[in-house]
Amino acid sequence: MQSPKPIPERRRRRDRRTDKPHPLASDLASAIDRAEVDVLFQPQFGCDSGAVVGAEALVRWFQPTRGAIGGDQLFAIATRSDLAHALSLYVLDKALDAAKAWPDDMRLSFNITPADLVAPDFAESVATALARSGFVPERLTLEITEQALVDDLEGSANRLDGLVELGIRVALDDFGAGFCNFRYLKKLPLHYLKLDRSMVEGIGHDSRDLAVLRGIVAMANALDLAVIAEGIEMTSQLEAVKREGCTSWQGFLGARPLPSEDFAALVAGDGFMLRE
Ligand code: C2E
Ligand code: MG
Ligand code: MG
Repeated sequence: MQSPKPIPERRRRRDRRTDKPHPLASDLASAIDRAEVDVLFQPQFGCDSGAVVGAEALVRWFQPTRGAIGGDQLFAIATRSDLAHALSLYVLDKALDAAKAWPDDMRLSFNITPADLVAPDFAESVATALARSGFVPERLTLEITEQALVDDLEGSANRLDGLVELGIRVALDDFGAGFCNFRYLKKLPLHYLKLDRSMVEGIGHDSRDLAVLRGIVAMANALDLAVIAEGIEMTSQLEAVKREGCTSWQGFLGARPLPSEDFAALVAGDGFMLRE
């Protein structure tokens, strides 16, 4: 019998990494307890009106020694220590608390994490958070990425169905960044397709990129999905997404993620200016 192959050192290092909690995990848990983790809001604009139509909640932790840590890294740390679902519910509470003061026509988008979709009480927790804040479910969008779905598409679809029954909307986030599994479009109860930044990067100057955008918008229209373009940094990109029929957009051209007070001032028309 052949002896088993030794596990390469690179894989052993990787496995050790996933077993051990991240060195910042306990600080993160304390920061969540003390409500020191921040939630920023990046405005979303209507393509027709040009007005702010809502915002996406984005988590930031200003860690004393490492500085600002964004959502991707923060959820990677949290996932290794089983903190991801708790962090997610914390962000939802904070975001709803801010959003309840916004004008009635503003939407809130909230990113969900894979741990949310497998939590048996997720729908109940969202319903409780909504009821506590008084924010109506119809104004909440859950953004979901391919990574959150790969393990169990049927189960994820069922759990999302329950949330949609409450009136909540669902967006497929980062569309075009990964494998673009079209099964997701058939199986999930979606309302929005959110184009990844990589899908809009070249649309201002590259005819192939523009052709891909055009095809996706046509498909989204046929599926009755609204298209949100993300990562708009240049006027030429904005012109293209407007011309091609996207519904709304967000990106540094309009605004970076803002502290809650600044977003509230912006939508209340308190003289907060996005650009000079
Ligand atoms: P995302 O949901 O696709 O969020 C958009 C990301 O793109 C944000 O990065 C935002 O700051 C950035 N962005 C927006 N406009 C532009 C632009 O014009 N140019 C460029 N270069 N970037 C732009 P951020 O805040 O670092 O978040 C990264 C990812 O982390 C998010 O991607 C999301 O997947 C995850 N994330 C952030 N907050 C949360 C959260 O509260 N919960 C969960 N589950 N995930 C979160
Ligand atoms: Mg998102
Ligand atoms: Mg995205």
